[in-house]
Amino acid sequence: MKINMTISEKDPMYTGDIDIYKRIGISGLKCVQDAVSMIHKKDSDIKNILDFACGYGRVLRSLQAGYPDASITACDLMKDAIVFCANTFGAIPVKGNENLSLINLPKKYDVIWIGSLFTHLPIERWGVFLDFFSNNITQDGILVFTIHGRKALWMMKQYNLLPKEITANMFEIFKDNFFNSGYAFYDYTKQHKDALSKIDANHSKAFGLSFTRPDYVYKYLLKHNKFNLVSYAEGAWAHNHDVVSLRLNSREFLEISNKKQFVKIEEGSCPCCDSDTTFISEKSWLRDNYRCVKCNCIPRERGLSYVIEQILPNWKNLVIHESSPGNRGTSLKLQKNCKNYISSHYYPNSKEEYVDGYKNIDLHKQNFEDEVFDLVVTQDVFEHLPYPEKAIKEIARTLKKGGYFISTIPLVKKFNPTVKWAELVDGDVKFFYEPDYHGNPIDPKGSPVFWHYGYDIASRFIEWSGMETIIVNNIIPELGIEAEFLEIVVCRKL
Ligand SMILES: [Zn+2]
Repeated sequence: MKINMTISEKDPMYTGDIDIYKRIGISGLKCVQDAVSMIHKKDSDIKNILDFACGYGRVLRSLQAGYPDASITACDLMKDAIVFCANTFGAIPVKGNENLSLINLPKKYDVIWIGSLFTHLPIERWGVFLDFFSNNITQDGILVFTIHGRKALWMMKQYNLLPKEITANMFEIFKDNFFNSGYAFYDYTKQHKDALSKIDANHSKAFGLSFTRPDYVYKYLLKHNKFNLVSYAEGAWAHNHDVVSLRLNSREFLEISNKKQFVKIEEGSCPCCDSDTTFISEKSWLRDNYRCVKCNCIPRERGLSYVIEQILPNWKNLVIHESSPGNRGTSLKLQKNCKNYISSHYYPNSKEEYVDGYKNIDLHKQNFEDEVFDLVVTQDVFEHLPYPEKAIKEIARTLKKGGYFISTIPLVKKFNPTVKWAELVDGDVKFFYEPDYHGNPIDPKGSPVFWHYGYDIASRFIEWSGMETIIVNNIIPELGIEAEFLEIVVCRKL
């Protein structure tokens, strides 16, 4: 293995002993190769390597020698360093930034090596770096980074490597801290950072000496929950740093771990509670899980509120009937803000006009007068109606001329024809296919699904009710309107 030993005169890691300098580089390569073999890959599988915080290529030169066919990206805060790595080792230079979102990496990497960066970061900063690496690694890539553990603590004490301002007394406290809690951090003083900026990079954020115990790191990784642990080797890099190698969590790791995994978090404003908020989903099925943290609404409710606002901006002054409302989202918004809002559920076993404050209405056979409503709303109701033709006719009858029926209906068949999924036989549900039930706010057993609709529902509604019908499908991330099956069916009575 031939290693290019051209050394920059600016390299702060070079202390004059070329053998030590070279051994540390080779040791880094060995750590990467061990990690690669742990995930059952061959060195020839490695096409793209990122050396993050590469400096003047102490390890990068060995990576180049060990992976001669791979493309290596050199990323560092120091411009001179990446230029040197590009000119000397043919690496792709990428300027680092304390704000990671400003770093433009050209590809995803099979290997990401980070020698001695986490060793200087307080634990609060680990997450953003791990998130950043999770976005820039291939699905089966390997992240290898070094941290200070017990061995490094011993080395620092033994060889007097600690900053001079750390007195013996301070060190004892620091050490106790480390062994009691598993974590200790010393933030460099301003003077130290200023001195550092002359030979190394400029650090404006917390940057110092970070020490972590293996159990602490593992617990942290479980909580962070983007990676799984491939290996942890104490003192493995140059007989000093601990070396951690990680791989992105695959489905089985996510499913088995009971920690919360937010698969999606966005800032935005919520059309249901009309406030700035965060939308969060712990699951990949956004339709039922992507919630507004303020009002707990889900995407179809936000989509519906948005469409109502667009089509009928004066909805607060209108007469509205909602069938089968929920107790949040659009239903709550309409109920709170509209004086003439009537909500109904159907209680087939009751003869009462009102049950639990809801009007008892069978959508198929409504006892409302003709042409009384400006707007009728249903949410995920139509797939549960055995006779949608009757229901849409009834809705049209109760609407004033120019009135709207606006509904969310999961059009699961999309461009394929609607399929009748079940029918009622003597009051019992008979499924033609696999039984399908959805949650029902007033029935813990859930509601049977009678129809798997496609977009042809629009022509059926037109044919059955004579109402003008369109299907809208908005995807508006900043309003949290993003999920599967967000189509909204809008009918207008002519
Ligand atoms: Zn909200």
